[in-house]
Amino acid sequence: MPEGHSIHRLARRHQRDLAGERVTASSPQGRFADGAALLSGRTLDGTDAWGKHLFHRYDDLWLHVHLGLYGKFRDGAGPPPDPVGALRLRLVTDERWLDLRGPIACEVLSPDQRDSLLSRLGPDPLRRGADPAAAIARIGRSRRPVGALLMDQQVLAGVGNVYRAELLFRHRVSPFLAGRDLDSATWEAMWEDLVVLMRAGARSGRIITTEPDDRERPAGRPRRSDAHYVYRRAGLACRRCGTPVEIAAMEARNLFWCPVCQA
Ligand SMILES: [Zn+2]
Repeated sequence: MPEGHSIHRLARRHQRDLAGERVTASSPQGRFADGAALLSGRTLDGTDAWGKHLFHRYDDLWLHVHLGLYGKFRDGAGPPPDPVGALRLRLVTDERWLDLRGPIACEVLSPDQRDSLLSRLGPDPLRRGADPAAAIARIGRSRRPVGALLMDQQVLAGVGNVYRAELLFRHRVSPFLAGRDLDSATWEAMWEDLVVLMRAGARSGRIITTEPDDRERPAGRPRRSDAHYVYRRAGLACRRCGTPVEIAAMEARNLFWCPVCQA
């Protein structure tokens, strides 16, 4: 599933390509026909992202998209290609087109409905001025493992499976530690780190969490195989201590960790 940094990248891309333009909206597949009719003929005022939720503002209406596991945008210049497959939404401007397939959410919201959705989301490290206090309050009250809390979008918005595993490794925190046993200094360091890592991800489109000294090839652009400490490295030697990286399911997703560094 795309993590928050990819959704922020999409919001920026749509802002750059489509903001200020009048759109013709359609739902070739039909499932979003009513919503598309509401948007068609309006001008896209701007875009926004909060965690894994993407928004387009059209005057007093918001288009809300959550890609889920299988959703995908495609876009291009000039006239759009013939619609193929389950095309939920197509936006066309004078210059460009944007297609959306397979999202778990694609809906039109009023400002109140959007506020109500946002009120159920935790702070997003990629949003300017995001306040980590709400997240630490929730974590500090919880007996649930930190590895589960980090993935809970009501606690923290935008973190997915890769950032979860990598952040815990970087701070030597066991994914199984109960939230209330995580001290606040560690949490503050984790939040600041997350802001830096996710901003870099939003700039480059890649999740790179390793420090150069921990890579097989320390110089130059990090290779794919050097990008992570533990994510998808089950059975491989930990970059810091050599112990095989472990894997288990947590919150229905594979969790990776080093049993020594994150004891
Ligand atoms: Zn280790």
